[in-house]
Amino acid sequence: MGTIIIFALDIGSARNRRMHETFSIGVDFGGTNLRIASYGGDVELLDTIVAPTRLGDGREAVIRDMCEAIEALGKKDYGGRRLTGIGVGSPGPLELPQGILRNPPNLPGWDGFNLREAIKSAIGREITLESDANAAALAEQKWGTGRTYGVESLCMLTLGTGVGNGLILDGSIWHGSTGMGGEGGHIIVQDVDGAACGCGGTGCLEQYASATAILRMAVEIMGADAPASSHEVALMAGAGDRRCLQVFKRVGHALAVALTALINTLNLPLYTIGGGACEAWDLFAPVMFRELRARSYVYRLTAPDILQTTSLEPHKTYILRAELGSNAGLLGACLLPLQEKKSLPQAAGELLPG
Ligand SMILES: [Zn+2]
Repeated sequence: MGTIIIFALDIGSARNRRMHETFSIGVDFGGTNLRIASYGGDVELLDTIVAPTRLGDGREAVIRDMCEAIEALGKKDYGGRRLTGIGVGSPGPLELPQGILRNPPNLPGWDGFNLREAIKSAIGREITLESDANAAALAEQKWGTGRTYGVESLCMLTLGTGVGNGLILDGSIWHGSTGMGGEGGHIIVQDVDGAACGCGGTGCLEQYASATAILRMAVEIMGADAPASSHEVALMAGAGDRRCLQVFKRVGHALAVALTALINTLNLPLYTIGGGACEAWDLFAPVMFRELRARSYVYRLTAPDILQTTSLEPHKTYILRAELGSNAGLLGACLLPLQEKKSLPQAAGELLPG
């Protein structure tokens, strides 16, 4: 397999090792990198393996790299802990429970591929599969803003290459009837002359609030003067470049339109925004909040007067920057099999007679 970097984090204190007798393995299957980690039950990961996603070498090569890393971590000795399950966060859309990729915009050539079967037959055991954005939202609820503020339900938007979306309702992922719930990155925010989207639609949030979109909009406004990355667009905007500031006004506008739809539909206590493009929060958030107040009456009626730093006022709608950084998807993948196990007794109990 390709270059592998192993980070071993010495976080397993003796106390924690006694507390946890099992570990799980999570896979963050990204279009650029495969990240595979072992997890012992705390916010920190035990070990992480990072390898490039060799899309150019074909699906079999990618699955082989992924499964070799899973097996390498599965053989590790974490003080006698038993491997309890393997979770995989994958680019969507994903048809569940089958585990078939359906026309994934960032994985050309993978349409119709049964990811679950491919991994299962390679490693010889079942996996828990979810979209990467759902996994990230789960991690954010368990270990990020959800934990900080004691919130069981939240909606997360991840501004990365695309715009991911995940819904956690009462502590569990809402994946809809076929696994395709939480595709809010494709809410239409520009219904006239909207930019074409990988989903087949036009004017989706993803085309106005992702890192990719930030760069594209900079090129539209600045032409040859545009910088080479969304990060540089943010730096120039931060330094006062009016054209780059214009880009982030459009980001704030797009987020306000999409959040209006989400807030008016869901009425959740918390909406959290993460992903790399969130570094520009201070550039887009003022426009986002201003427009949200004007557009969403549910938000207007429930907006907090001031943001408490330690708790959220009940019956209010909060929009906060996500707390977990780039590890959210990987941590969420590690949490997936634990969630499944937790929900099993409850499901069985419901089936018991009288
Ligand atoms: Zn779309």
